[in-house]
Amino acid sequence: MLNRLTIKQAHEGLKKKEFSSVELTRACLKRIKERNKDINAFISVFEKEALEEANKADEMIKKKKSFDGAQGKQKMLLGIPFCVKDAINTMDRRSTGAAKILDNYIPPFDATVIKKIREQGAVLLGKNNCDAFGHGASNENSMYGPVKNPRDLTKVAGGSSGGTAAAVADDMCVFGIGEDTGGSIRQPASFCGVVGLRPSYGRNSRYGIMPMASSLDTVGPITKTVEDCAIVEEIMAGHDKLDATTVPSQKSVKSLKSIKSLRVGVPREYFYVDGMDGEVKKMIERKIERLKDYKTCPERSRRIEIVGVSLPMTKYAIPVYYIIVPSEDSSNLGRLDGIRYGVRAEAKNLYDVYAKSRAQGFPEEVKRRIMIGTYALSAGYYDAYYRKAQKVRTLIIQDFNKAFENVDVLITPTSPFTAFGIGEKKNDVLAMYLADIFVAPAAVAGLPAISVPAGKTKSGLPVGLQIIGPRLKENLVFHTAKLIENYAR
Ligand code: GLN
Repeated sequence: MLNRLTIKQAHEGLKKKEFSSVELTRACLKRIKERNKDINAFISVFEKEALEEANKADEMIKKKKSFDGAQGKQKMLLGIPFCVKDAINTMDRRSTGAAKILDNYIPPFDATVIKKIREQGAVLLGKNNCDAFGHGASNENSMYGPVKNPRDLTKVAGGSSGGTAAAVADDMCVFGIGEDTGGSIRQPASFCGVVGLRPSYGRNSRYGIMPMASSLDTVGPITKTVEDCAIVEEIMAGHDKLDATTVPSQKSVKSLKSIKSLRVGVPREYFYVDGMDGEVKKMIERKIERLKDYKTCPERSRRIEIVGVSLPMTKYAIPVYYIIVPSEDSSNLGRLDGIRYGVRAEAKNLYDVYAKSRAQGFPEEVKRRIMIGTYALSAGYYDAYYRKAQKVRTLIIQDFNKAFENVDVLITPTSPFTAFGIGEKKNDVLAMYLADIFVAPAAVAGLPAISVPAGKTKSGLPVGLQIIGPRLKENLVFHTAKLIENYAR
């Protein structure tokens, strides 16, 4: 059962030589073999290469190589098996983005964050199924079939990083890396019952992440515990000269010690929306109530206050998101034309090569976004749609800024409901877009936000609690997440 370990536990075990990285990797590969045919969380599994990497890690552990120089400490991720959303480039390992247009694409480089993780000596098990190029909230927009929720195979795993969340939840790996433009890490984490962080915009380099909407895209960890999430985030964070949006400082990614008191805001707009599941609402409210009892916990010297707040612009987040994202999409996806990368359709002339490659290589949702975006950006409509959406985006940012004058973090449900049935919303585009109602606002505003498990409903489905923090205050987000994980049972 080595595959069930957290990063922290696996690291300790490897260090004490209780087991080897090869044994740990084999345990994960065995689990993938048993479960992936039902869950469909992986598009590619690199069995041979993973075992080679694990072997190398074992050698390094033996010879005390790949240790943190001065202190001689074993690197945290050395020998630990992980998996990566297929919309993130991995060197010499097929990366399809879950779209057939890249079915045969093998990148010659690693995304910066993957490079950092692999430099630690982590073992890459495989690439996870997702909604094509991150477009979706249920994983039904993958051209490799939907991912099923490991807690209930009739339900979706969430999207778009559904395969990664399912793989972590089902112990097919120790941790995973996902991408979040408008909820794609947090919502599947909540549906599958694991931890998922969307970092602040600019915190982690997006170099090598297949771009969707450049002014919103982020990449972050999906893990079994909050501690693991902070460990991986600290490794991923930092400036990258290949992504001009990244911030120089790594401070306040993880350091939690100095926090003496905490004011938690509860925005009412996240509890009263159409389609809100009463049981989910009650569970989140109960968690918040329990935080008040926190004084009975060992670190009682710290004060926690819960205050009601209002974010009146919340209702505009979905309309703003679904104008800005398709617009930036329509420009970013232009690079996929059947010429430069991936699969090229047979055709008589250049125009037909473009048209056919895209017609065959993109799923319906991707085509829809390109068309909406092209329309919203076109002359005469740009002012009415894209520019207007950007203006309202500023109002949403100001809304959050105002709330953070008064509170340190915000707590909300991650999703108004638990995992829905496969096929239930697939043909109702608006209902699918509305599923992002609680995850889109922080994305539009570039804020860090995490989803942590908040228990299960009577029918056994996981519920996620979201913590949103001010920009670049991942430490506050992790701190609060840990309180929820430890004390708010
Ligand atoms: N559901 C959102 C969308 O379809 C999430 C996208 C994302 O975060 N990659 O746009």
